[in-house]
Amino acid sequence: MTARILVVDDLLPNIKLLEARLTAEYFDVTTATSGLQAIELCATQGCDIVLLDVMMPGIDGFETCRRLKADPATAHIPVVMVTALDQPADRLRGLEAGADDFLTKPVDEIALIARVKSLARLKVVLDELRTRALTAASLGMPDLLASYQAENGAAAKILLVDDRQSSVDRVTHAMLKLHHVDVEANAQNALIKAAEGNYDLMIVSLGLKDFDGLRLCSQVRSVERTRHLPILMIADLEDRSRILRGLDLGVNDYLVRPIDRNELVARVRSQVRRKRYADALRSNVQASIEAALVDSLTGLHNRRYLETHLAALLDQAHATNRPLSLAILDIDFFKRVNDTYGHDVGDEVLRAFAQRVKYVVRQVDLVCRLGGEEFVVVMPDTPLDQAQGIGERIREVIEEQLFSVLDGKQAIPVTVSVGVANADQTTTADVLFRRADRALYRSKHEGRNRVTSDAA
Ligand code: GH3
Ligand code: MG
Ligand code: MG
Repeated sequence: MTARILVVDDLLPNIKLLEARLTAEYFDVTTATSGLQAIELCATQGCDIVLLDVMMPGIDGFETCRRLKADPATAHIPVVMVTALDQPADRLRGLEAGADDFLTKPVDEIALIARVKSLARLKVVLDELRTRALTAASLGMPDLLASYQAENGAAAKILLVDDRQSSVDRVTHAMLKLHHVDVEANAQNALIKAAEGNYDLMIVSLGLKDFDGLRLCSQVRSVERTRHLPILMIADLEDRSRILRGLDLGVNDYLVRPIDRNELVARVRSQVRRKRYADALRSNVQASIEAALVDSLTGLHNRRYLETHLAALLDQAHATNRPLSLAILDIDFFKRVNDTYGHDVGDEVLRAFAQRVKYVVRQVDLVCRLGGEEFVVVMPDTPLDQAQGIGERIREVIEEQLFSVLDGKQAIPVTVSVGVANADQTTTADVLFRRADRALYRSKHEGRNRVTSDAA
């Protein structure tokens, strides 16, 4: 994985050190010696991750971070604050300025690579989701970036997997009043709990007596329901090689004993924030996928959905040797409605038309708007004569009552022409469509407001 890293520090030796280590891991490194220069570079050249020194002349690291996060063009770039070891309060200040992570000086090599890799991996996923969410935003969906910035990572539900009482006490005490913590000493039970408990974070001790904590991490990553659950490992300093393996397995972050309370609070908070943001993006993408398959005027499924779903319904009909029929509906002289009353009234009629059709067909029938004033009803398990009957019912429900529009000030007569066709064992969607369309053409040709069938 290659990512473009911007290293910001006023002291050249510090820059050289980080640059050498990152370049050795094949990251692409750019450097800046002041906050303002960093902001300029992020805005003009773009970068994937910023490593930001705190103490700098001019604007300091906190202010630089704040400005990067306040600009919508750079707010999504992860920022890692590089703070002095003896200033634990700086970590919280950094997070409050919007930083995504922090490293302490002197910078530990494993920690540096681990955090940069984890952020680079996360950024690839978030960038992809963000692109799709931006499309959704242009369709009037909520602004997710703003909601991420507002997200404070508080009141999370955490599963702590640890069997050492002193360690459990330490963690639960630090989380007190901030989050809800469930403790589980047994790794197998933990896996079940994680799958069922809807947690925001799992904290795993690598020092469990009877179970390899890394194995639990790997299981959590491979189970569908917990795939996106962030994991924080707690390890001992001599566990360095296991920490690295854990990070390769997809563990999100780690802490080394003795646990520093501020560091624990800060790391938990940023994992929870990221998870909630990713969750929001995912459900937003889901919503926009649904939006792409629904016709916004009538709320019916659209042509795209019909095309995919009809193929599946036909396969099913063929496999089970059941009949299937399809009707195409086309409103008669609809152009006149628009021409006489205007396009908005036309839209009102289309909405009411859709409602009436939905009302007379069965739950299992699929009603779609093909486009314009043309609709399709797919009827599983329905032979042609029954489908002809349903077509007739639709024709009647449209004709029998005038369409009331403009708050009841106008009532418009509307009729519909219908073409029906059925599928036999070999009929493809294309052929079925063409035959229903031919039947529709006959209905139009023979005077409209009628139903015609085309037998397979
Ligand atoms: P026919 O009986 O032969 O079907 O006549 P028609 O006027 O219904 O057929 P035609 O295909 O000539 O016209 C369809 C009209 O539907 C043209 C267009 O203005 C209108 N239309 C298409 N989409 C919409 C829409 O979303 N809203 C409104 N209000 N009108 C639409
Ligand atoms: Mg038409
Ligand atoms: Mg028409």
